[in-house]
Amino acid sequence: MTPDCKTPLRTALELATAGGPVLPLRLGKVPFGNCRACAAVACGGRPNMKDAGPCQCPAVCHGWAAATTDPHVITSPAWALAWRQAVAVAYHPGGAGLTVVDLDNAAAVEWAREALPATRTVPTTRGEHWIYRGAMRSSNAVRPGVDIKSLMSYARWLGPGTGRMADLPPAVRALAVKEETTPAPGEVVSSIASRARWDRTVATGCRHTERYVRTGLERGLALVRARTESGAGSQAFGVARFLAGQHAQCPGPCGLDAIGEDIVTAAVSVGVPETYARRAVANGLKMASERAA
Ligand SMILES: [Zn+2]
Ligand SMILES: [Zn+2]
Ligand SMILES: [Zn+2]
Repeated sequence: MTPDCKTPLRTALELATAGGPVLPLRLGKVPFGNCRACAAVACGGRPNMKDAGPCQCPAVCHGWAAATTDPHVITSPAWALAWRQAVAVAYHPGGAGLTVVDLDNAAAVEWAREALPATRTVPTTRGEHWIYRGAMRSSNAVRPGVDIKSLMSYARWLGPGTGRMADLPPAVRALAVKEETTPAPGEVVSSIASRARWDRTVATGCRHTERYVRTGLERGLALVRARTESGAGSQAFGVARFLAGQHAQCPGPCGLDAIGEDIVTAAVSVGVPETYARRAVANGLKMASERAA
């Protein structure tokens, strides 16, 4: 692959013209963080997310969900600062009607050559992207070193690649199905899924209505689950801090432990290691109570 001498913005505009929804990536090759208005659950999320919200934020908020083909948005003042700091361009494969099988290392590439039909490939730092025509649910770690990036996710743009693009084969769809029925760290997922979730009965000293707490919790969990690529741990921290902050004036108890459990479960479901998720959530809850004190 020849090095890309164009600016990320120019590359993005070309991609968008070809029908690929794009977004800038910052240092570390991850999406820019949310603006202040979109922090934690304040805005409810974008209309194009899984749990669709009302957010019309003009900035590059909500990770993959900011991706667009609209050149007016891409060149807007609200995106200009991000482009000045951008180090790379990402696209939303599902939005372009594509699925990227992200093969992280040589062993994964080796496996794909045996198991999957040939298609267009793009070299990555240590592996390859195999790109198929057709969209599907995204799924991380379907095998060691193999992620599926399509709907509700982003993939780094590393050039057009080589080879003829094939239709999304059953073999790739089957990877995600398999992952659904047999979650890799099986015991961990099922044990924490069965633990207590927030319920009005544990919030005996809460001033809020059940509806208020549930709506906030569901929005927060949606934000964590939407981080299928990266940042779910820090999102969990932010959501925990925000939700705990809602109860700063309650006499308590408000069932914050149960709310924390729900956030941990959401983070683990998108691939955050449980110990890390627990620490992030505990720190978020703690910070909110310190701020209230
Ligand atoms: Zn925003
Ligand atoms: Zn927003
Ligand atoms: Zn409360």
